[in-house]
Amino acid sequence: MKSKQETIQIEIPKPLDQLSPSEIERKACIGKIMTYTLKSLTSTFVDQGFQWLLPVALSQCTDPLWPDPGASIDKRIEVDIYGKPVRTTASMIIHKLVAASTAYPKLFILSPNIRIEKAERAGTGKHIYEFTQLDFEARDATSKDIITLVEDAICTLIKDLKLDMKGELTTLCRCDTLKAPKAPFKIYDRVELEAKYGADGWEAGIAKETTQPVWVTNIPREFYDYEDFKTGKWDNYDLFLPQYGEVLSGAKREWEYAKISKKIERDQIKKENYALVLKMAKEGRLKPTAGGGIGMERLVGWIAGVKHVAETQPFPRVPGTVNEL
Ligand code: AMP
Ligand code: MG
Repeated sequence: MKSKQETIQIEIPKPLDQLSPSEIERKACIGKIMTYTLKSLTSTFVDQGFQWLLPVALSQCTDPLWPDPGASIDKRIEVDIYGKPVRTTASMIIHKLVAASTAYPKLFILSPNIRIEKAERAGTGKHIYEFTQLDFEARDATSKDIITLVEDAICTLIKDLKLDMKGELTTLCRCDTLKAPKAPFKIYDRVELEAKYGADGWEAGIAKETTQPVWVTNIPREFYDYEDFKTGKWDNYDLFLPQYGEVLSGAKREWEYAKISKKIERDQIKKENYALVLKMAKEGRLKPTAGGGIGMERLVGWIAGVKHVAETQPFPRVPGTVNEL
């Protein structure tokens, strides 16, 4: 069944060559806000001692994106190169776990995420089929460390941006409506939100209700997020923005072989696709880490007050639409 979200229709962002002069002006403002946001966030991470890694687009192993109730993948892209099957990057989570366990204890990547979302998601305003995550991971960090880091990064960004980008925010009619958030953000347990809004409605419910960014913890999903087998609780967190919804997913991660192996089996995922991470875990070479990934288009979409997240892209990637560029 389609969620309510998926049936709302929004005007589909046009490619650059089809924009009117006023639409070009708007696009340019959003572009400047994207540049400002990238500069601010990457500076925060570098200042905090994170190494900036360059991304990869093709690997044998990528994010299974399963089981995640939010995922809606139409097609997975797999090609052969040099006689081996490779997949396009769905997220760099596995690369992060290996990198943070070895040479890069604190790292971030502006990572390409290719997820061929179902065409019916064109009108949600939230989904595109290529997007960029500011993806980060830190060895021995706790969830609390990551939550504090993200809150600082976002509060600094919005406070500075409101001072430095007044002209752009005015053009976008966001000068008054974009409020600088205050840390600490409220933290909800997904169980309490499900009790209030229902299992299918809690994400939309909390996004609609909140006027500040908020955290939601304890969300069942992919094997690499930490789950306490005794309590059944997940040590993970999503950041939700007012009206716009989920902008970040992150977690403390699993690092023990027995748990990872059991969870991969439980999720009915092919073990051979995760052979490296399993081997490293078995040898005790996978380390405890925590991290997250911020969807840059959704973050900037919220700041700029867009109707469709693809408005933040120079070359829109709207599900179901393929442009020449
Ligand atoms: P996920 O790994 O699915 O939790 O994605 C991490 C972050 O990437 C999300 O919190 C969003 O900000 C962003 N994201 C995920 N899927 C999409 C999509 N289809 N379009 C735009 N942004 C997305
Ligand atoms: Mg997520």
